[in-house]
Amino acid sequence: MSQPSSVPRTFSFDEIVQAHARLADAVHRTPVLTSATADRRVGAQLFFKCENFQRMGAFKFRGAYNALAQFTPQQRRRGVVTFSSGNHAQGIALSAQLLGMPAVIVMPTDAPAIKVAATRGYGAEVVCYDRYTEDREAIGRQLAEERGLTLIPPYDHPHVMAGQGTAAKELFEDVGALDTLLVPLGGGGLLSGCATVARAMHPACRVIGVEPETGNDGQRSFRSGQIVHIDTPKTIADGAQTQHLGQHTFPVIQRSVDDILTVSDAELVEAMKFFAGRMKMIVEPTGCLAAALAFRGQLDLSGQRVGVLLSGGNVDLARFAALVQESALQETQP
Ligand SMILES: *Cc1c(COP(=O)(O)O)cnc(C)c1O
Repeated sequence: MSQPSSVPRTFSFDEIVQAHARLADAVHRTPVLTSATADRRVGAQLFFKCENFQRMGAFKFRGAYNALAQFTPQQRRRGVVTFSSGNHAQGIALSAQLLGMPAVIVMPTDAPAIKVAATRGYGAEVVCYDRYTEDREAIGRQLAEERGLTLIPPYDHPHVMAGQGTAAKELFEDVGALDTLLVPLGGGGLLSGCATVARAMHPACRVIGVEPETGNDGQRSFRSGQIVHIDTPKTIADGAQTQHLGQHTFPVIQRSVDDILTVSDAELVEAMKFFAGRMKMIVEPTGCLAAALAFRGQLDLSGQRVGVLLSGGNVDLARFAALVQESALQETQP
């Protein structure tokens, strides 16, 4: 785990500015939406950065493209390999297709069908593994060695972190100063990038990472000062089923984030229903982490300007319907 080559190096806002220039023509500048109903409910002014409308359906395209665009000609010829629960896979697959290089994706056998199909649809080769018994990182490394592929992990890489941070840069450029920025947290690529942007552009902004309750390794790591490892958590937030923060993401999070809080699966479903019912948009469970925290009302946001990162929108319609239906049934039971 602690080979000299993976010792974290410094990570700065400059890298995010450069990433943004590199990405500008490839990414969508996603809209920032508001809702008077949400504002009334929370007693704050909420600005939703809609990465559910990003290319391939999530912010992961930003980090993937930023990493692949910096490959040498030889790396491009050989191609890229990665492991992912889905959105990073699609981000890598689409970026590889746009940049004309081969891609191999190691995916769990129980990954949502929509994500597997989309990954194959972008022309990538998919290799399956069992997420509860096999080590995806080992499989990825072995493939990299055997075929001379370059491994780009889903979060623990400075080029990935820099790409993800461009979402927050756009948000601040579009809406100006914020009192609080709420960001979904899995392995910390998105949070480390966004927090670095906040510290540079609006240092007074409070930055909070939001995790699923059953997978609160990030919160425990943040509070103990050591990277805490957990078993794969059971949660509907499949994009945040990570077992630990990264060697690169953790120090950045420690230095630039104010706190890490959690929400329950039921609260994620409530947020999904709100976005579908009131704002007419599909946000996947993981994409609702930050919004669910705002909606729950325990964090004092009153009168504040709050940035809420909606990180993705990739959820099977059947699964979406089942989650919403289940919670509707529970509500009608006496
Ligand atoms: C990957 C992902 C996250 C978590 O991002 P990290 O960089 O791993 O912290 C959050 N939401 C969605 C939709 C994702 O795909």
